[in-house]
Amino acid sequence: MRPRRNPWGPVETKMALLSLPIKGVQQIDDTIFALSSGVLPSAVAVVRISGPRAAEALRALIGRLPEARRAVLARVRDPQTAESLDQALALWFPGPASETGEDMAEVQLHGGRAVVAAVFAALRKFEGMRLAEPGEFTRRAFEHGRLDLTRIEALADLIYAETEAQRQQAFRHMQGLLGDRAERWRQTLIEAMALVEAAIDFPDEGDVPTDLLQPALNIAASLRQDIEQTLATSVRGERLREGITVAIAGPPNVGKSSLLNRIAQREASIVSSAPGTTRDVIEVHLDLAGFPVTVLDTAGIHDSSEPVEQEGIRRARTRAARADLVLWVTDPSSRIAEPDPSAVTDGKALWLITNKCDLLSGVELELLGAQQTASSHFAISAKSGLGVEQLLNELANFARFYFKPSEPALVTRQRQRQILQDAEGALRRAVSEGAQGREEVVAEELRAASHALGRLVGRVDVEDVLDAIFRDFCIGK
Ligand code: GDP
Repeated sequence: MRPRRNPWGPVETKMALLSLPIKGVQQIDDTIFALSSGVLPSAVAVVRISGPRAAEALRALIGRLPEARRAVLARVRDPQTAESLDQALALWFPGPASETGEDMAEVQLHGGRAVVAAVFAALRKFEGMRLAEPGEFTRRAFEHGRLDLTRIEALADLIYAETEAQRQQAFRHMQGLLGDRAERWRQTLIEAMALVEAAIDFPDEGDVPTDLLQPALNIAASLRQDIEQTLATSVRGERLREGITVAIAGPPNVGKSSLLNRIAQREASIVSSAPGTTRDVIEVHLDLAGFPVTVLDTAGIHDSSEPVEQEGIRRARTRAARADLVLWVTDPSSRIAEPDPSAVTDGKALWLITNKCDLLSGVELELLGAQQTASSHFAISAKSGLGVEQLLNELANFARFYFKPSEPALVTRQRQRQILQDAEGALRRAVSEGAQGREEVVAEELRAASHALGRLVGRVDVEDVLDAIFRDFCIGK
Protein backbone atom coordinates (compact mmCIF):
# COMPACT_ATOMS: atom_id res chain seq x y z
CA MET A 1 0.00 0.00 0.00
CA ARG A 2 1.19 3.48 -0.81
CA PRO A 3 2.10 5.40 2.36
CA ARG A 4 -0.24 8.25 3.06
CA ARG A 5 1.16 11.70 3.34
CA ASN A 6 0.53 13.21 6.71
CA PRO A 7 1.50 16.85 6.69
CA TRP A 8 -1.29 18.06 8.97
CA GLY A 9 0.20 17.29 12.27
CA PRO A 10 0.55 14.79 15.00
CA VAL A 11 -0.51 11.24 14.57
CA GLU A 12 -3.16 11.43 17.31
CA THR A 13 -4.97 14.15 15.41
CA LYS A 14 -4.73 12.19 12.24
CA MET A 15 -6.05 9.07 13.88
CA ALA A 16 -8.91 10.95 15.45
CA LEU A 17 -9.73 12.24 12.02
CA LEU A 18 -9.56 8.89 10.35
CA SER A 19 -11.81 7.33 12.90
CA LEU A 20 -14.53 9.91 12.39
CA PRO A 21 -17.44 7.68 11.53
CA ILE A 22 -19.75 8.44 8.67
CA LYS A 23 -22.86 6.36 9.19
CA GLY A 24 -20.71 4.00 11.21
CA VAL A 25 -18.42 3.20 8.28
CA GLN A 26 -14.66 3.52 8.35
CA GLN A 27 -14.87 6.03 5.59
CA ILE A 28 -11.32 6.22 4.31
CA ASP A 29 -11.04 2.58 3.27
CA ASP A 30 -14.16 2.68 1.17
CA THR A 31 -14.12 3.67 -2.42
CA ILE A 32 -16.68 6.38 -2.97
CA PHE A 33 -18.52 7.59 -6.03
CA ALA A 34 -20.91 10.41 -6.78
CA LEU A 35 -22.39 12.61 -9.43
CA SER A 36 -20.15 15.66 -9.35
CA SER A 37 -21.97 17.70 -11.97
CA GLY A 38 -25.31 19.46 -11.62
CA VAL A 39 -28.94 18.42 -11.62
CA LEU A 40 -30.08 15.81 -14.14
CA PRO A 41 -31.01 15.71 -16.94
CA SER A 42 -28.08 17.65 -18.31
CA ALA A 43 -25.82 17.54 -21.35
CA VAL A 44 -23.05 15.77 -19.49
CA ALA A 45 -22.99 13.97 -16.14
CA VAL A 46 -19.63 13.70 -14.42
CA VAL A 47 -19.32 10.69 -12.12
CA ARG A 48 -16.25 10.60 -9.93
CA ILE A 49 -14.81 7.64 -8.11
CA SER A 50 -12.17 7.92 -5.38
CA GLY A 51 -10.46 5.33 -3.22
CA PRO A 52 -8.41 2.12 -3.33
CA ARG A 53 -10.77 0.38 -5.77
CA ALA A 54 -11.08 3.22 -8.27
CA ALA A 55 -8.73 1.58 -10.79
CA GLU A 56 -10.52 -1.73 -10.56
CA ALA A 57 -13.91 -0.05 -10.99
CA LEU A 58 -12.84 1.94 -14.02
CA ARG A 59 -11.24 -1.09 -15.62
CA ALA A 60 -14.42 -3.07 -15.05
CA LEU A 61 -16.60 -0.32 -16.51
CA ILE A 62 -14.62 0.46 -19.67
CA GLY A 63 -12.43 -2.62 -20.07
CA ARG A 64 -9.06 -0.90 -19.56
CA LEU A 65 -7.20 1.65 -17.50
CA PRO A 66 -6.47 4.73 -19.63
CA GLU A 67 -3.16 6.55 -19.57
CA ALA A 68 -3.03 8.86 -16.53
CA ARG A 69 -4.80 12.20 -16.97
CA ARG A 70 -5.69 11.58 -20.64
CA ALA A 71 -9.31 11.52 -21.72
CA VAL A 72 -10.36 8.47 -23.73
CA LEU A 73 -13.62 7.69 -25.45
CA ALA A 74 -14.95 4.41 -24.16
CA ARG A 75 -17.97 2.12 -24.07
CA VAL A 76 -19.28 1.84 -20.51
CA ARG A 77 -20.58 -1.60 -19.64
CA ASP A 78 -22.16 -3.27 -16.66
CA PRO A 79 -19.29 -5.45 -15.45
CA GLN A 80 -21.60 -8.34 -14.57
CA THR A 81 -23.93 -8.47 -17.56
CA ALA A 82 -21.60 -6.80 -20.10
CA GLU A 83 -24.56 -4.74 -21.22
CA SER A 84 -23.61 -1.42 -22.83
CA LEU A 85 -24.73 1.46 -20.63
CA ASP A 86 -23.32 4.48 -22.45
CA GLN A 87 -20.50 5.85 -24.55
CA ALA A 88 -18.41 8.18 -22.39
CA LEU A 89 -15.19 10.06 -21.83
CA ALA A 90 -13.12 8.42 -19.12
CA LEU A 91 -10.17 9.73 -17.15
CA TRP A 92 -7.76 8.13 -14.74
CA PHE A 93 -6.00 10.13 -12.00
CA PRO A 94 -3.64 7.95 -9.98
CA GLY A 95 -2.98 9.08 -6.41
CA PRO A 96 -1.38 10.81 -4.66
CA ALA A 97 -1.31 13.55 -7.30
CA SER A 98 -5.09 13.50 -7.66
CA GLU A 99 -7.59 15.91 -6.20
CA THR A 100 -8.40 13.72 -3.21
CA GLY A 101 -4.87 12.35 -2.95
CA GLU A 102 -6.28 8.88 -3.65
CA ASP A 103 -6.67 6.96 -6.89
CA MET A 104 -9.49 8.61 -8.77
CA ALA A 105 -11.47 7.91 -11.90
CA GLU A 106 -13.89 10.13 -13.73
CA VAL A 107 -16.51 9.16 -16.28
CA GLN A 108 -18.28 11.84 -18.30
CA LEU A 109 -21.57 10.28 -19.27
CA HIS A 110 -24.56 11.55 -21.18
CA GLY A 111 -26.55 13.38 -18.54
CA GLY A 112 -29.72 11.29 -18.48
CA ARG A 113 -31.21 10.10 -15.21
CA ALA A 114 -31.40 6.47 -16.38
CA VAL A 115 -27.81 6.56 -17.66
CA VAL A 116 -26.49 7.74 -14.32
CA ALA A 117 -28.77 5.34 -12.43
CA ALA A 118 -27.47 2.41 -14.49
CA VAL A 119 -23.82 3.34 -13.89
CA PHE A 120 -24.47 3.84 -10.18
CA ALA A 121 -26.15 0.41 -10.02
CA ALA A 122 -23.09 -1.11 -11.70
CA LEU A 123 -20.73 0.61 -9.25
CA ARG A 124 -22.75 -0.48 -6.24
CA LYS A 125 -22.08 -4.09 -7.16
CA PHE A 126 -18.44 -3.67 -6.13
CA GLU A 127 -17.63 -4.57 -2.58
CA GLY A 128 -16.31 -1.64 -0.53
CA MET A 129 -17.85 0.85 -2.92
CA ARG A 130 -20.53 3.28 -1.85
CA LEU A 131 -22.12 6.62 -2.66
CA ALA A 132 -20.16 9.54 -1.24
CA GLU A 133 -21.43 11.67 1.62
CA PRO A 134 -21.74 15.44 1.07
CA GLY A 135 -18.27 16.98 0.85
CA GLU A 136 -16.54 13.63 1.20
CA PHE A 137 -14.21 14.08 -1.79
CA THR A 138 -13.00 17.35 -0.32
CA ARG A 139 -12.73 15.82 3.10
CA ARG A 140 -10.46 13.14 1.72
CA ALA A 141 -8.41 15.81 -0.03
CA PHE A 142 -7.97 17.42 3.38
CA GLU A 143 -7.11 14.17 5.06
CA HIS A 144 -4.46 13.45 2.45
CA GLY A 145 -2.96 16.89 2.82
CA ARG A 146 -4.10 18.18 -0.57
CA LEU A 147 -5.99 21.15 0.90
CA ASP A 148 -5.73 23.04 4.19
CA LEU A 149 -8.82 24.27 6.01
CA THR A 150 -8.67 27.81 4.68
CA ARG A 151 -8.61 26.45 1.14
CA ILE A 152 -11.56 24.22 1.86
CA GLU A 153 -13.50 27.17 3.21
CA ALA A 154 -12.55 29.08 0.07
CA LEU A 155 -13.69 26.19 -2.09
CA ALA A 156 -17.13 26.33 -0.47
CA ASP A 157 -17.15 30.09 -1.03
CA LEU A 158 -16.16 29.66 -4.65
CA ILE A 159 -18.99 27.24 -5.26
CA TYR A 160 -21.48 29.59 -3.63
CA ALA A 161 -20.01 32.82 -5.04
CA GLU A 162 -22.78 34.83 -6.67
CA THR A 163 -20.91 37.95 -7.66
CA GLU A 164 -17.60 38.76 -9.30
CA ALA A 165 -16.04 40.21 -6.15
CA GLN A 166 -17.05 37.12 -4.17
CA ARG A 167 -15.56 34.86 -6.84
CA GLN A 168 -12.28 36.80 -6.81
CA GLN A 169 -12.01 36.66 -3.04
CA ALA A 170 -12.79 32.94 -2.90
CA PHE A 171 -10.36 32.14 -5.68
CA ARG A 172 -7.50 34.05 -4.04
CA HIS A 173 -8.09 32.11 -0.84
CA MET A 174 -8.19 28.85 -2.78
CA GLN A 175 -4.71 29.77 -3.97
CA GLY A 176 -3.59 30.02 -0.35
CA LEU A 177 -3.82 33.74 0.34
CA LEU A 178 -4.39 33.12 4.04
CA GLY A 179 -3.34 29.48 4.34
CA ASP A 180 0.17 29.99 2.97
CA ARG A 181 0.65 33.10 5.05
CA ALA A 182 -0.42 31.25 8.20
CA GLU A 183 2.02 28.50 7.32
CA ARG A 184 4.86 31.04 6.99
CA TRP A 185 3.90 32.61 10.29
CA ARG A 186 4.01 29.23 11.94
CA GLN A 187 7.51 28.58 10.61
CA THR A 188 8.66 31.94 11.95
CA LEU A 189 7.09 31.17 15.30
CA ILE A 190 8.92 27.87 15.46
CA GLU A 191 12.21 29.76 15.07
CA ALA A 192 11.22 32.07 17.92
CA MET A 193 10.20 29.12 20.06
CA ALA A 194 13.57 27.46 19.46
CA LEU A 195 15.32 30.59 20.75
CA VAL A 196 13.18 30.65 23.88
CA GLU A 197 13.75 26.96 24.51
CA ALA A 198 17.49 27.60 24.23
CA ALA A 199 17.16 30.42 26.76
CA ILE A 200 15.37 28.06 29.14
CA ASP A 201 18.05 25.42 28.66
CA PHE A 202 20.87 27.77 29.70
CA PRO A 203 19.49 29.39 32.82
CA ASP A 204 22.71 30.02 34.71
CA GLU A 205 25.01 31.40 32.11
CA GLY A 206 24.94 35.12 32.60
CA ASP A 207 23.53 37.10 29.72
CA VAL A 208 22.62 34.20 27.49
CA PRO A 209 18.87 34.12 28.21
CA THR A 210 18.41 37.81 27.44
CA ASP A 211 20.44 37.50 24.29
CA LEU A 212 18.23 34.67 23.16
CA LEU A 213 14.97 36.05 24.46
CA GLN A 214 15.23 39.46 22.83
CA PRO A 215 15.41 38.16 19.22
CA ALA A 216 12.51 35.83 19.99
CA LEU A 217 10.48 38.75 21.29
CA ASN A 218 11.38 40.79 18.20
CA ILE A 219 10.03 38.01 16.00
CA ALA A 220 6.87 37.81 18.11
CA ALA A 221 6.36 41.58 17.94
CA SER A 222 6.72 41.68 14.18
CA LEU A 223 4.42 38.70 13.76
CA ARG A 224 1.86 40.29 16.01
CA GLN A 225 1.89 43.38 13.83
CA ASP A 226 1.37 41.27 10.70
CA ILE A 227 -1.56 39.49 12.27
CA GLU A 228 -3.09 42.74 13.44
CA GLN A 229 -2.91 44.13 9.91
CA THR A 230 -4.45 40.95 8.58
CA LEU A 231 -7.28 41.19 11.10
CA ALA A 232 -7.99 44.73 9.95
CA THR A 233 -9.27 43.30 6.64
CA SER A 234 -11.68 40.90 8.30
CA VAL A 235 -14.77 43.11 8.39
CA ARG A 236 -14.56 43.60 4.65
CA GLY A 237 -13.74 39.97 3.94
CA GLU A 238 -16.55 38.57 6.04
CA ARG A 239 -18.98 41.10 4.66
CA LEU A 240 -18.09 40.26 1.09
CA ARG A 241 -19.22 36.72 1.72
CA GLU A 242 -22.58 37.87 3.04
CA GLY A 243 -23.10 41.11 1.19
CA ILE A 244 -23.74 44.57 2.56
CA THR A 245 -27.22 45.31 3.75
CA VAL A 246 -29.38 48.21 2.69
CA ALA A 247 -32.64 48.71 4.59
CA ILE A 248 -35.61 50.46 3.05
CA ALA A 249 -37.44 52.12 5.91
CA GLY A 250 -39.98 54.87 6.44
CA PRO A 251 -43.61 55.50 7.32
CA PRO A 252 -46.36 53.25 5.91
CA ASN A 253 -47.74 53.66 2.40
CA VAL A 254 -44.96 55.81 1.04
CA GLY A 255 -44.05 53.05 -1.43
CA LYS A 256 -41.29 51.05 0.26
CA SER A 257 -42.50 47.68 -1.02
CA SER A 258 -43.08 49.20 -4.43
CA LEU A 259 -39.49 50.43 -4.46
CA LEU A 260 -38.17 46.99 -3.54
CA ASN A 261 -40.29 45.42 -6.27
CA ARG A 262 -39.09 47.98 -8.74
CA ILE A 263 -35.47 47.24 -7.83
CA ALA A 264 -36.11 43.52 -8.06
CA GLN A 265 -37.62 43.82 -11.54
CA ARG A 266 -35.34 46.44 -12.97
CA GLU A 267 -32.04 45.08 -11.86
CA ALA A 268 -31.01 42.77 -14.69
CA SER A 269 -28.36 40.89 -12.72
CA ILE A 270 -30.51 39.93 -9.79
CA VAL A 271 -29.18 36.86 -8.10
CA SER A 272 -32.16 35.69 -6.16
CA SER A 273 -35.20 37.03 -4.49
CA ALA A 274 -36.26 35.26 -1.36
CA PRO A 275 -38.62 36.04 1.46
CA GLY A 276 -36.81 37.20 4.56
CA THR A 277 -36.58 35.44 7.85
CA THR A 278 -39.79 37.00 9.05
CA ARG A 279 -42.91 37.94 7.20
CA ASP A 280 -42.10 41.51 8.13
CA VAL A 281 -38.76 41.73 6.40
CA ILE A 282 -38.59 40.96 2.69
CA GLU A 283 -35.19 40.88 1.05
CA VAL A 284 -33.74 40.97 -2.44
CA HIS A 285 -30.17 39.98 -3.23
CA LEU A 286 -28.51 42.10 -5.87
CA ASP A 287 -25.28 41.98 -7.76
CA LEU A 288 -24.29 45.63 -8.08
CA ALA A 289 -21.07 46.17 -10.01
CA GLY A 290 -19.91 42.73 -8.87
CA PHE A 291 -20.65 43.31 -5.20
CA PRO A 292 -23.32 41.50 -3.24
CA VAL A 293 -25.95 43.84 -1.83
CA THR A 294 -29.01 42.74 0.10
CA VAL A 295 -31.91 45.18 0.10
CA LEU A 296 -34.46 44.79 2.88
CA ASP A 297 -37.97 46.10 3.03
CA THR A 298 -38.65 46.56 6.69
CA ALA A 299 -42.45 46.71 6.39
CA GLY A 300 -44.18 49.76 7.78
CA ILE A 301 -42.27 51.12 10.71
CA HIS A 302 -45.01 52.83 12.62
CA ASP A 303 -46.57 52.66 16.03
CA SER A 304 -49.10 49.96 16.65
CA SER A 305 -50.87 48.48 19.63
CA GLU A 306 -51.45 45.13 17.93
CA PRO A 307 -49.01 42.55 19.46
CA VAL A 308 -48.14 40.69 16.23
CA GLU A 309 -47.60 43.95 14.43
CA GLN A 310 -45.52 45.24 17.31
CA GLU A 311 -43.23 42.24 17.00
CA GLY A 312 -42.90 42.85 13.25
CA ILE A 313 -42.03 46.45 13.92
CA ARG A 314 -39.45 45.46 16.50
CA ARG A 315 -37.76 43.07 14.08
CA ALA A 316 -37.89 45.58 11.27
CA ARG A 317 -36.22 48.16 13.48
CA THR A 318 -33.50 45.70 14.50
CA ARG A 319 -32.73 44.77 10.90
CA ALA A 320 -32.72 48.41 9.82
CA ALA A 321 -30.49 49.31 12.75
CA ARG A 322 -27.97 46.65 11.70
CA ALA A 323 -27.98 47.65 8.03
CA ASP A 324 -24.98 49.38 6.48
CA LEU A 325 -27.19 51.93 4.78
CA VAL A 326 -30.76 53.05 5.37
CA LEU A 327 -32.91 54.38 2.55
CA TRP A 328 -35.47 56.49 4.37
CA VAL A 329 -38.47 56.74 2.08
CA THR A 330 -41.15 59.41 2.28
CA ASP A 331 -43.64 60.72 -0.25
CA PRO A 332 -44.51 64.33 -1.05
CA SER A 333 -47.51 64.22 1.26
CA SER A 334 -45.57 62.77 4.19
CA ARG A 335 -45.87 64.69 7.32
CA ILE A 336 -43.06 62.67 8.83
CA ALA A 337 -40.25 64.04 6.72
CA GLU A 338 -37.57 63.49 9.31
CA PRO A 339 -36.04 60.03 9.79
CA ASP A 340 -37.17 57.91 12.67
CA PRO A 341 -34.09 58.15 14.89
CA SER A 342 -34.52 54.59 16.19
CA ALA A 343 -33.98 53.24 12.68
CA VAL A 344 -30.73 55.07 12.32
CA THR A 345 -27.83 54.40 14.62
CA ASP A 346 -24.80 56.63 15.00
CA GLY A 347 -22.52 56.84 12.03
CA LYS A 348 -24.76 54.77 9.76
CA ALA A 349 -25.20 56.01 6.24
CA LEU A 350 -28.68 57.36 5.57
CA TRP A 351 -30.14 58.44 2.27
CA LEU A 352 -33.41 60.32 1.98
CA ILE A 353 -35.72 59.15 -0.76
CA THR A 354 -38.77 61.09 -1.84
CA ASN A 355 -40.99 58.62 -3.68
CA LYS A 356 -44.11 59.15 -5.82
CA CYS A 357 -42.52 62.00 -7.72
CA ASP A 358 -44.69 61.03 -10.70
CA LEU A 359 -47.48 62.78 -8.79
CA LEU A 360 -45.60 66.06 -8.83
CA SER A 361 -45.82 68.66 -11.53
CA GLY A 362 -42.64 69.77 -13.26
CA VAL A 363 -42.54 72.89 -11.13
CA GLU A 364 -43.02 70.97 -7.90
CA LEU A 365 -40.28 68.56 -8.91
CA GLU A 366 -37.92 71.44 -9.54
CA LEU A 367 -38.83 72.90 -6.18
CA LEU A 368 -38.05 69.58 -4.52
CA GLY A 369 -34.72 69.46 -6.36
CA ALA A 370 -33.86 72.91 -5.10
CA GLN A 371 -34.61 71.83 -1.53
CA GLN A 372 -32.26 68.87 -1.83
CA THR A 373 -29.00 70.11 -0.52
CA ALA A 374 -27.37 66.81 0.28
CA SER A 375 -26.21 64.49 -2.50
CA SER A 376 -27.78 61.64 -0.57
CA HIS A 377 -31.29 62.83 -1.34
CA PHE A 378 -33.12 61.20 -4.24
CA ALA A 379 -36.39 62.03 -5.92
CA ILE A 380 -37.84 58.87 -7.43
CA SER A 381 -40.99 57.15 -8.50
CA ALA A 382 -41.27 53.47 -7.80
CA LYS A 383 -44.29 53.47 -10.06
CA SER A 384 -42.78 55.04 -13.19
CA GLY A 385 -39.17 54.12 -12.48
CA LEU A 386 -38.09 57.76 -12.46
CA GLY A 387 -34.73 58.16 -10.70
CA VAL A 388 -34.45 54.45 -9.77
CA GLU A 389 -31.57 53.81 -12.16
CA GLN A 390 -29.59 56.65 -10.64
CA LEU A 391 -30.33 55.34 -7.15
CA LEU A 392 -29.01 51.89 -8.14
CA ASN A 393 -25.86 53.44 -9.63
CA GLU A 394 -25.24 55.26 -6.38
CA LEU A 395 -25.81 52.03 -4.45
CA ALA A 396 -23.20 50.34 -6.64
CA ASN A 397 -20.78 53.19 -5.86
CA PHE A 398 -21.55 52.80 -2.19
CA ALA A 399 -20.70 49.08 -2.40
CA ARG A 400 -17.56 49.79 -4.40
CA PHE A 401 -16.39 52.30 -1.82
CA TYR A 402 -17.30 49.98 1.04
CA PHE A 403 -15.25 47.07 -0.26
CA LYS A 404 -12.32 49.11 -1.63
CA PRO A 405 -11.21 46.15 -3.73
CA SER A 406 -7.64 47.38 -4.27
CA GLU A 407 -6.35 45.05 -1.60
CA PRO A 408 -7.76 41.57 -1.01
CA ALA A 409 -9.17 40.71 2.39
CA LEU A 410 -7.13 38.07 4.16
CA VAL A 411 -9.78 37.03 6.63
CA THR A 412 -13.18 35.99 5.36
CA ARG A 413 -14.78 34.10 8.22
CA GLN A 414 -15.54 34.48 11.88
CA ARG A 415 -13.64 31.25 12.57
CA GLN A 416 -10.49 32.66 11.01
CA ARG A 417 -10.90 35.99 12.78
CA GLN A 418 -11.33 34.41 16.21
CA ILE A 419 -8.30 32.19 15.76
CA LEU A 420 -6.14 35.09 14.64
CA GLN A 421 -7.35 37.13 17.60
CA ASP A 422 -6.25 34.25 19.85
CA ALA A 423 -2.83 34.21 18.20
CA GLU A 424 -2.52 37.98 18.41
CA GLY A 425 -3.46 37.92 22.11
CA ALA A 426 -0.87 35.24 22.88
CA LEU A 427 1.86 37.13 21.01
CA ARG A 428 0.93 40.35 22.81
CA ARG A 429 1.29 38.62 26.17
CA ALA A 430 4.62 37.12 25.11
CA VAL A 431 5.99 40.48 24.01
CA SER A 432 4.80 42.21 27.17
CA GLU A 433 7.03 39.92 29.25
CA GLY A 434 10.03 41.83 27.90
CA ALA A 435 13.65 40.73 27.56
CA GLN A 436 14.00 40.37 31.33
CA GLY A 437 10.76 38.43 31.60
CA ARG A 438 10.00 34.82 32.41
CA GLU A 439 11.11 32.57 29.58
CA GLU A 440 8.53 29.94 30.52
CA VAL A 441 5.70 32.40 30.08
CA VAL A 442 7.07 33.54 26.72
CA ALA A 443 7.46 29.92 25.63
CA GLU A 444 3.91 29.10 26.67
CA GLU A 445 2.41 32.08 24.84
CA LEU A 446 4.38 31.36 21.68
CA ARG A 447 3.16 27.79 21.84
CA ALA A 448 -0.41 29.06 22.18
CA ALA A 449 0.05 31.32 19.14
CA SER A 450 1.50 28.47 17.13
CA HIS A 451 -1.36 26.22 18.19
CA ALA A 452 -3.85 28.85 17.03
CA LEU A 453 -2.19 29.06 13.61
CA GLY A 454 -2.26 25.28 13.45
CA ARG A 455 -6.00 25.41 14.03
CA LEU A 456 -6.35 27.96 11.28
CA VAL A 457 -5.01 25.63 8.60
CA GLY A 458 -6.35 22.46 10.21
CA ARG A 459 -3.18 20.95 11.59
CA VAL A 460 -4.65 20.62 15.05
CA ASP A 461 -8.08 20.48 16.71
CA VAL A 462 -9.89 19.95 13.47
CA GLU A 463 -12.64 17.61 14.58
CA ASP A 464 -15.05 20.26 15.81
CA VAL A 465 -14.78 22.46 12.76
CA LEU A 466 -14.79 19.84 10.05
CA ASP A 467 -18.45 18.99 10.29
CA ALA A 468 -19.42 22.63 10.28
CA ILE A 469 -17.37 23.27 7.17
CA PHE A 470 -18.43 20.21 5.24
CA ARG A 471 -22.08 20.93 5.90
CA ASP A 472 -21.70 23.57 3.18
CA PHE A 473 -20.75 21.05 0.54
CA CYS A 474 -22.91 19.04 -1.77
CA ILE A 475 -22.55 15.38 -2.63
CA GLY A 476 -19.91 14.91 -5.30
CA LYS A 477 -17.65 17.67 -3.97
P1 GDP B 1 -45.27 50.80 1.79
O1 GDP B 1 -46.34 50.63 2.84
O2 GDP B 1 -44.37 51.94 2.13
O3 GDP B 1 -44.53 49.55 1.49
O4 GDP B 1 -46.01 51.27 0.46
P2 GDP B 1 -46.48 50.40 -0.80
O5 GDP B 1 -45.34 50.05 -1.66
O6 GDP B 1 -47.37 49.31 -0.34
O7 GDP B 1 -47.32 51.50 -1.57
C1 GDP B 1 -48.40 52.18 -0.99
C2 GDP B 1 -49.26 52.76 -2.09
O8 GDP B 1 -48.55 53.76 -2.82
C3 GDP B 1 -49.70 51.73 -3.11
O9 GDP B 1 -51.03 51.99 -3.47
C4 GDP B 1 -48.78 51.98 -4.30
O10 GDP B 1 -49.37 51.64 -5.53
C5 GDP B 1 -48.56 53.46 -4.20
N1 GDP B 1 -47.25 53.85 -4.75
C6 GDP B 1 -46.04 53.32 -4.46
N2 GDP B 1 -45.07 53.94 -5.15
C7 GDP B 1 -45.67 54.88 -5.91
C8 GDP B 1 -45.21 55.87 -6.83
O11 GDP B 1 -44.01 56.01 -7.12
N3 GDP B 1 -46.14 56.67 -7.40
C9 GDP B 1 -47.46 56.57 -7.12
N4 GDP B 1 -48.29 57.38 -7.75
N5 GDP B 1 -47.92 55.65 -6.26
C10 GDP B 1 -47.07 54.83 -5.65
